[in-house]
Amino acid sequence: MQGTLIVLSGFSGAGKGTIIKRLMEKYDNYALSVSVTTRQPREGEEEGVNYFFRSQEEFDQMVKEDAFIEYASYVKHSYGTPKAFVTKKLEEARDVILEIEVQGALHVKEVMPEAISIFVTPPSGEELERRLSGRGTETPEVVADRMARAYEEADSMDQYDYLLINDDLEECVDKLHELIMASHFRSIGNKELINDMKESLKAFRKE
Ligand code: 5GP
Repeated sequence: MQGTLIVLSGFSGAGKGTIIKRLMEKYDNYALSVSVTTRQPREGEEEGVNYFFRSQEEFDQMVKEDAFIEYASYVKHSYGTPKAFVTKKLEEARDVILEIEVQGALHVKEVMPEAISIFVTPPSGEELERRLSGRGTETPEVVADRMARAYEEADSMDQYDYLLINDDLEECVDKLHELIMASHFRSIGNKELINDMKESLKAFRKE
């Protein structure tokens, strides 16, 4: 059986990073896809861990070679999901997580309808603002920009398969895991089993 491809998006400040980190600590069936980006590394970010940092030329070359499942621009930079890693891990029956923005997420669902898409959100707009302000690292202007962007992104929430409300972290991580486990039983992800079943029933067919 193949693994499930999980596409995770959500508002900035919704806690996606923390959720994924905790999910991977708690359960061992997951592989996290590392994207390629043309933006500069931030402090503490490592090549091959957070991203593969590449020039625009190198990125464009990968596009030409059809090396991405999807790619998108986000705030003047390019981001893409490398195909080879994801395909290999899915074949090894690992569940692969992509943490990508809305445009890319919807594209993945188009080309790989068996993927499941999940949108992470805090319980309310007020709570989102509290979390963004509470980080203490952002100026009020940056918080206001992120809130305005969240308003726009909310328009795409209903295009995701599932909404995941991040209220209590542990509960949220466990819910996410259960959701993914249940997704293994979807008929769309089990075409091989269906075909095998049909094949083995052929002998009993009545003309
Ligand atoms: P950041 O620059 O803050 O790390 O990421 C900016 C946005 O790009 C985030 O919403 C992140 O989820 C998204 N992103 C990261 N990697 C990819 C990718 O490979 N494809 C797409 N479409 N979005 C990505």
